Amino acid sequence: MSLFRHIPQVSKLLEDFRDYPQEIAKRAIREVLQKVREEIKEGRRQSLEDLRELIEKRIRELTTTNLRRVINATGVVINTNLGRSVLSEEVADFIKEIAVHYSNLEYDLSKGRRGSRLSHVEELLRVLTGAEAVHVVNNNAGAVYLVLNTLAFGKEVVVSRGELVEIGGSFRIPDIMRASGAKLVEVGTTNRTRLSDYERAISSETALLMKVHRSNFYMEGFVEEVKAEELLSLGLPLYYDMGSGSLVNLRSFGINTEEPSFEECIKSGIHVVSGSGDKLLGGPQAGIIVGKREFIERIRKNPMSRALRIDKLTLAGLEMTLRLYMQRDYEKIPTLRMLLQKPEEIRKRALRLSRRLRSMVGLEVRLLRDISRCGGGAMPELSLETYCLGLRHKSLSPVELEKKLRNSDPPIIARIRDDMVLLDMRTVEDGDIPDILKALELLEV
Ligand SMILES: *Cc1c(COP(=O)(O)O)cnc(C)c1O
Repeated sequence: MSLFRHIPQVSKLLEDFRDYPQEIAKRAIREVLQKVREEIKEGRRQSLEDLRELIEKRIRELTTTNLRRVINATGVVINTNLGRSVLSEEVADFIKEIAVHYSNLEYDLSKGRRGSRLSHVEELLRVLTGAEAVHVVNNNAGAVYLVLNTLAFGKEVVVSRGELVEIGGSFRIPDIMRASGAKLVEVGTTNRTRLSDYERAISSETALLMKVHRSNFYMEGFVEEVKAEELLSLGLPLYYDMGSGSLVNLRSFGINTEEPSFEECIKSGIHVVSGSGDKLLGGPQAGIIVGKREFIERIRKNPMSRALRIDKLTLAGLEMTLRLYMQRDYEKIPTLRMLLQKPEEIRKRALRLSRRLRSMVGLEVRLLRDISRCGGGAMPELSLETYCLGLRHKSLSPVELEKKLRNSDPPIIARIRDDMVLLDMRTVEDGDIPDILKALELLEV
């Protein structure tokens, strides 16, 4: 019980933390003292040695942002949990420029009067997709809602049972359909849907045929689906939720995927196509809707368009990303760069890091070949050859090592396989390497 008497007074401790914002220091001290008192009461604490250390740690927690940079060593390029697409310096600099100044967001400089915020990306998107008209909203979930609400409110929409998907974070096609006021008409079976299934489901109540990209899974075996081109033969408007929304034909870069580009979808004659801005496109979060003018105009006029509108910083990021596409500067789009990286480049980066790690005491490092995934609802069938560093620590279990890395500054997100912690070097950037070294140096035994 005598420990209680040795707890310093708040004012006394505060003097030791004079260099920190005082209100925060006071709060940290109070919180730590309360915790310490409880621990003493429960007999879980024998000394007060670490008191100042605990307070400093708490102050650090209270003064750093919650949202922070992390190092993605998972190899999943479009990692939704880690913020999906990373933007390049060019794009980030432009966002900053627009953020810290006034801009012509909704002002037509040539006419000196009110303009449209979408005008900044309209032409770029028309050129890059070949579409007659475009619309952009907050994200693709919003786009799906807006398209269905505009074109099929109170009417029927025919969708294959094989395409009633759920995307991470509770986005389900039947649910968004209900919320939009459209009536879902399911056709076919999970694995096979034929043109005749759609044909039979069409009635005077049908407003739209819809196809949904199976973004996060794929089916193999006894599978049949109806291509967009065939559906168009039924003479009804067709909407395709393409999910990941690529602006380039990835096959032309040697990626073996069925994933179509916006341009291919438009060329095939689909009336309305939507996709995300931050998946394969590699830009900021956005929902891009392209297609035939008569439909897009109706969608733009929907009052919900305003509720789902794209924010100006996102718009700045999107415009600059689209300009990089126009200049064919794909190297400056990190998502594409990481996906298109040759295994040999990844191996070189892995070797550079492993050479530095080999001299560390208590750490065993192995170079391993592995497979990384695209992630983020794009190309689930694709296996990308990659190189990982497998780490084993002399006095930490893999679970403990993974946790230590996750709690370092910046946090390093890795995965465990067998008895090793794997750093997949596909998504680790050169600039991350000093931070990884620093984190592991702190764990040297
Ligand atoms: C990812 C995805 C969505 C949701 O897009 P967000 O931009 O995340 O809102 C909708 N449909 C499909 C098919 C998707 O893959």
